[in-house]
Amino acid sequence: MSAPHPTNRPSNGPQDAPPPFLVGLGYDLHRLEPLAPHGPGRPLVLGSVRLDHDRGPVAHSDGDALLHAVTDALLGAIAAPDIGQLFPDTDPNHDAQDSRVFLAEALRLVHAAGYRPTNLDATVILERPKLSPHKPAIRRAVADLLELPEPRVNIKGKTHEGVDAVGEGRAVEVHAVVMLQHTPHK
Ligand code: MG
Repeated sequence: MSAPHPTNRPSNGPQDAPPPFLVGLGYDLHRLEPLAPHGPGRPLVLGSVRLDHDRGPVAHSDGDALLHAVTDALLGAIAAPDIGQLFPDTDPNHDAQDSRVFLAEALRLVHAAGYRPTNLDATVILERPKLSPHKPAIRRAVADLLELPEPRVNIKGKTHEGVDAVGEGRAVEVHAVVMLQHTPHK
C-alpha cells in the first residue's frame, strides 16, 4: 500500500509528534576594518571573547560573527525567523548590542518550543589574529551561553589560505551546526 498523499494525512498521526532531534545551520560573515579612529571597525569579539587586533567587524551590533552564526543555527533548527528578522539592524536599540542578548533570546525560543541544545560544532575562518590561543576561552564562553558542558561544544579555527577577502584579513566567516533534543518537560 502506498503512503498517503501529504495533503491527505490525518491531522493527529505520528508525523505530527515533535521530532526527537532537530538540526540547525548558521552562517555569518562580517567585514573587518581598521578600528576607530582610523576606520569603522568595532573591537573584534568572537564567542563573546575579545581578541586583540587592529581590525574589527563593521556591524550594527557588536559584530560577534560566531554568536550570530550560533543564534541563526538555533533559530533555524526550530524554523523561527532568522537573526536579521528578529533583530533588524535598523533598530537603534541594537546599536553596539552585545550579541549574547541575541543568543539568549534564540535559546529562550528553543526552550519554548520544547527543545534544548545537545551539541554545537562551529568553524571560524579568520586569517588574523590566530584563533588557537583563544579557542579554550571561546569554547568555555559559548558552552556557558548554551548551558552545555564543554565537551559538547567544538570551535574549530581555519584560515582562508590568503585567498579572497577572508584570506586577505578583510572579513571573518563562521559556519555553525547545532543539534537540539526534544525535552518537553524541561
Ligand atoms: Mg552578523
